[in-house]
Amino acid sequence: MTDRNQTLFDRAAQVIPGGVNSPVRAFRAVGGTPRFVQRAQGAYFWDANGQKYIDYIGSWGPMILGHGHPAVLEAVQKAALDGFSFGAPTEREIELAEEILKHVPSMEMVRLVSSGTEAGMSALRLARGATGRSKFIKFEGCYHGHADALLVKAGSGLATFGNPTSAGVPPEVVRDTLVLEYNNIQQLEEAFALHGKELACVMIEPIAGNMNFVRASVPFMKRCRELCTEYGALLVFDEVMSGFRVALGSAQSVYAKAIPGFKPDMTVLGKVIGGGMPLAAFGGPREIMRQLAPTGPVYQAGTLSGNPVATACGLTTLREIAKPGFFEALSARTQSLVDGLKGAAAAAGVPFSADCQGGMFGFLLLPELAQNYAQVMTSDSPKFNKLFHGLLDGGVYIAPALYEAGFVSGAHTEADIAETVRVAADVFKSL
Ligand SMILES: *Cc1c(COP(=O)(O)O)cnc(C)c1O
Repeated sequence: MTDRNQTLFDRAAQVIPGGVNSPVRAFRAVGGTPRFVQRAQGAYFWDANGQKYIDYIGSWGPMILGHGHPAVLEAVQKAALDGFSFGAPTEREIELAEEILKHVPSMEMVRLVSSGTEAGMSALRLARGATGRSKFIKFEGCYHGHADALLVKAGSGLATFGNPTSAGVPPEVVRDTLVLEYNNIQQLEEAFALHGKELACVMIEPIAGNMNFVRASVPFMKRCRELCTEYGALLVFDEVMSGFRVALGSAQSVYAKAIPGFKPDMTVLGKVIGGGMPLAAFGGPREIMRQLAPTGPVYQAGTLSGNPVATACGLTTLREIAKPGFFEALSARTQSLVDGLKGAAAAAGVPFSADCQGGMFGFLLLPELAQNYAQVMTSDSPKFNKLFHGLLDGGVYIAPALYEAGFVSGAHTEADIAETVRVAADVFKSL
């Protein structure tokens, strides 16, 4: 039988760099041929060979209801009939903004944009504009989109600022980006002692999903908050992945339970709030958000921002996941996947650790959970690649790189979880 995935990949590679429109889709980390998706429904998708997979990527997070949810489909179809884009305001933008603010009360105003990259980049500009400061802190292993100033790895020492992680990013542009180790309180305190008065913000993924799944510890988060407040820097939560995914109130609601009165100054959202359409957002207190054009001096704009079809998709998705019991059921299902995988790994004697929150999970072939990027990277990558391909051959699709998180949707059933654990148990035995 000809492999249509391979045929399509070869054809794609002639006209699209690497055959893909976003690098990790290319399977470079794990080897093999990317699966070209033909269609998806519920918790499954079918590739170009007609092979069915249980989908644990869900478009890297957005598909929290599963694919083709009837209420979302209906809303999108109806919106499309009324027009694709106007470049003028619509009532639905207000409704989506109100829905977001209702669940994430640290934000009093929100600006809608089209991608997480755009939202992160704009939030950084606003933090700099609102504070009148240029320097900021980010953490190794956190991804905030591919804006120049954010594509940075740690420099040689604390007093030095970062180095670009991509060609084409001029060193001058990352001169003000300080990259620290995640969960390292001592480094954070030293950095504030040196640069605190010059810092516009600390930008962080509170539950990081771009270095597998790593939580900021409660003491670390508490210290981030205290130091930002003390030095007048803004604490910016990048919840593009964790927002409306780990809880209805997003990751900040998880930290607010552990740290009384806790809230970030600004929040960046994407993925789930678009329900699979290009839509993202950033928001915060009125006094900060009013610094944005047209009311303030910080410029930001977008031809397709608040797109009527995307807002219909996002709004319906958020209303569905806000229904009583949705997150309880999603959390329980994700927990049962994690517990099942742990049990299967233990039975096969494979070192394994896993964690989850809401509908997001991660696992590593390490006996202990990782606390930072360097620890994640000690996970056995040849073994991960074997596991990845074993699961794929068994009809289970997880992220094709060990530094990515996984996602369960409301459409995954206990039977899907049981099937996944059964496939994994066989693969573990062969590792
Ligand atoms: C996905 C992601 C982004 C970038 O969003 P895009 O829509 O891919 O541009 C930014 N931050 C985090 C935490 C993400 O997971």
